[in-house]
Amino acid sequence: MDDSNAKLTPLSELGEFGLIEKLTGDIKSKNHSTLFGIGDDAAVIKPEKSMLTVVSKDLLLEGVHFDLMYTPLKHLGYKTAVVNFSDIAAMNGKPKQLLVGIGVGAKFSVEAIDEIYSGIKSACEIYGVDLIGGDTTSSSSGLVISATVIGEVKKADIVYRNGAKPNDLICVSGDLGGAYMGLLILEREKKAFQADPNIQPDLGQHDYILQRQLKPEARTTVVDILAKEKIIPTSMIDVSDGLASDVMHLCKSSKTGCVISEEKIPIDQTTYELAKEFNIVPTVAALNGGEDYELLFTVSQDDYEKVKDIPEITIIGYMTDASEGERLITSDENSIDLVAQGWDALKKKI
Ligand code: ADP
Ligand code: MG
Repeated sequence: MDDSNAKLTPLSELGEFGLIEKLTGDIKSKNHSTLFGIGDDAAVIKPEKSMLTVVSKDLLLEGVHFDLMYTPLKHLGYKTAVVNFSDIAAMNGKPKQLLVGIGVGAKFSVEAIDEIYSGIKSACEIYGVDLIGGDTTSSSSGLVISATVIGEVKKADIVYRNGAKPNDLICVSGDLGGAYMGLLILEREKKAFQADPNIQPDLGQHDYILQRQLKPEARTTVVDILAKEKIIPTSMIDVSDGLASDVMHLCKSSKTGCVISEEKIPIDQTTYELAKEFNIVPTVAALNGGEDYELLFTVSQDDYEKVKDIPEITIIGYMTDASEGERLITSDENSIDLVAQGWDALKKKI
């Protein structure tokens, strides 16, 4: 954080209501379904009759989910909103409204909270979401941000985790493993800084993976592409814990097994090269890294012609009978058990 305290306004100067007014005073709702946003005891929303309402919530704690030493506050706000939007995309829906609860310690200035909100508002602007309410309170144990998103999806288009059948194709959007490599770079530079504060962070040519970690995007555009191509996935999830863990969630819910081809897993060149530098097999970063917020979904074989040429989408395997288990075909053509180490397990090894 900025050390030039001179210009910063302590929270006590504004008080709770002043702060809420400062943060939300300029907000105007845009969506039809938002009848009333901020300013009463509760917001009022009314989705169209043909739509289902989908709701999700995320809780982010300082020191657990983010490290303020290297997380710019604006990006933190943006990420808080976007990870929620991603959950709505994973139901094949579009985010429409957001509520944000925030708990702040006395060390925070009004300007710092404003910075978090500028990130939240910018995400809302980009994704067409109305910020319709929240709660503001003081926290004695670090920064706490919790967001609740409300989305809409046509009744016929809703996608759960549990609809995949054996032989369905497993598809993923974008590329995987980048967010985890971004985290490794940030942790490395943090350690270097702690050892010698005179060392400037060497974030070098790592824009792409740092963005993947600090300012991820939700794949609502993929939801649009699927709608345009008239593809309704049979199951879907967003990749927050890592490909291995998340494909296993689809298998468990759908009561199937799966086969993933290691060589088909989409990995960006920067991710690939950095993984090598860190002595990590690049596909392991993709399988176990997490936080990529890509969409992982299955489609019927009948949709093969439709999905195969969509640039944003890669077919990486297929579902099998549950009795066949969850398998990874390695690049040297061995079939091994897919193991979900999850993000936490991997993190402890660093
Ligand atoms: P109450 O005491 O009834 O909970 P508040 O004074 O906390 O009401 O909130 C007043 C209005 O401001 C409400 O519409 C609430 O949703 C909104 N609000 C409060 N805190 C936030 C926040 N951090 N972000 C967005 N809206 C907020
Ligand atoms: Mg309140």
